[in-house]
Amino acid sequence: AKMGAVVPVFIVDEHVKSTGAAHRWRLEQSMRALDEDLRSCGLKLVLKAGDALDVLRGLVAETGASAVHWSRLYDPATNDRDAKVKSALKADGISATSHPGHLLWEPWTAETKSGGFFKVYTPFWNASKDIPVPEPLTMPDLSAPLTWPESTPLEALELSKDMVRGGETLLRHGIIGEAAARGRLGHFIGNAIGSYKTDRDRPDLDATSMLSENFTVGEMSVRIAWHAGLRAMQDGAAGAEHFLKELCWRDFAYHLLHHTPHIARDSWREEWQDFPWRGDNADAKTWRRGMTGEPMVDAAMRQMYVTGKMHNRARMLVASYLTKHLMTDWRVGMAWFDDHLTDWDPASNAMGWQWTAGSGPDASPYFRIFNPATQAEKFDPDGVYRHRFIAGYDLRPDHEDAIAYFDMVPRSWGMSPSDPYPERIVDLKAGRERALDAYQSHKDRAA
Ligand code: FAD
Repeated sequence: AKMGAVVPVFIVDEHVKSTGAAHRWRLEQSMRALDEDLRSCGLKLVLKAGDALDVLRGLVAETGASAVHWSRLYDPATNDRDAKVKSALKADGISATSHPGHLLWEPWTAETKSGGFFKVYTPFWNASKDIPVPEPLTMPDLSAPLTWPESTPLEALELSKDMVRGGETLLRHGIIGEAAARGRLGHFIGNAIGSYKTDRDRPDLDATSMLSENFTVGEMSVRIAWHAGLRAMQDGAAGAEHFLKELCWRDFAYHLLHHTPHIARDSWREEWQDFPWRGDNADAKTWRRGMTGEPMVDAAMRQMYVTGKMHNRARMLVASYLTKHLMTDWRVGMAWFDDHLTDWDPASNAMGWQWTAGSGPDASPYFRIFNPATQAEKFDPDGVYRHRFIAGYDLRPDHEDAIAYFDMVPRSWGMSPSDPYPERIVDLKAGRERALDAYQSHKDRAA
């Protein structure tokens, strides 16, 4: 159907500015790609900075628009902002509509039998999986306005100003824009979904979809991936249901964030509020720099630095190592992830950290302390992942990603690829016992 003229707009407001450096950098790439896509159908993206409502009111006045539409987000800060924008525009006599599409289901859809929310994933999955996920809509036929409002140049928005590690290498590892995301989905469904259930835990393999960055910035709806996974399942692909389950984890994170917004800031379980984690400390700094002497941990931390993402198993490992072996507050780790992940997601990041630390709903049991050395043997059996990200890890010539790390880190860290790889900062057995003691006595106190 032919619609009236449409003015696509993206506003950099205080909320956008408050997000992490890598996320803002990633948004910049996304806006560039979206603008190119829009130009190929005769439109363009209007960029603005300022208070969202002020900017929208200005555009409405300038263009004579009668309606404002946007894609709904679900974190508390955006929710509050959008609710205010919506009621103010309506009061101005403008039709204002937000649309779902960022999640599979609205986060309040699934309910327990007694009408409450889910704190455990499996019952959430069981209650959700048969709720139909709307089919993605096709692109409508859009027409351009007669005159375009003023747009701020992308660079002037300074979305990448805090990206001290530089974007060139990240760009090489990114999957930017809708076309690239669709290509990646096709690659995953065509090559990897069959073995996804077993290989998804292997950071040395190209076994997962790598689409988290596209879902986060809205380049591709998770609903498109859901329907592709569903079709693969109907065609008999063995790992397809597991892929759907992982997509559902993302919705579960938003279900939790919606019902218990404090998950993003405070230990979700009351009794964990006073757990004697250490605040930021010298060991945590070593962890951030990928210099703990624990190869699997260091490879993972460097992977995030160089590529903007980290394999899921590695995220669990580094989070467990920081909160348990190094007894450091999960918020110290989450803050580093917030600033460095190009697939940063407020709900999944908070849930992932609290799940690993033990303070969240549906958390891993407190005595589950990943051993990064045995995990390495199991999930990186030939050392391919460690070799890829750690210079001098073994006798093979250094991988370009391992070298890139040293080009990206601030000079003040004083690191060089020819430095010897460091000794372990904590003995795994001693670290495990210290954590177990602390967790056990905390549990006793709480009981
Ligand atoms: P695939 O294996 O292909 O999975 C498909 C999709 O399912 C993912 O893109 C993602 O949207 C969703 N998904 C998979 N696993 C999870 C999970 N455990 N939780 C929530 N959603 C999941 N994911 C983010 O998108 N942003 C984050 O900031 C983030 N922080 C995390 C922090 C920690 C400590 C942990 C343990 C996990 C975190 N995750 C986060 C979840 C997960 O690690 C990533 O979604 C996944 O690694 C992305 O790779 P992929 O797209 O190849 O995933």
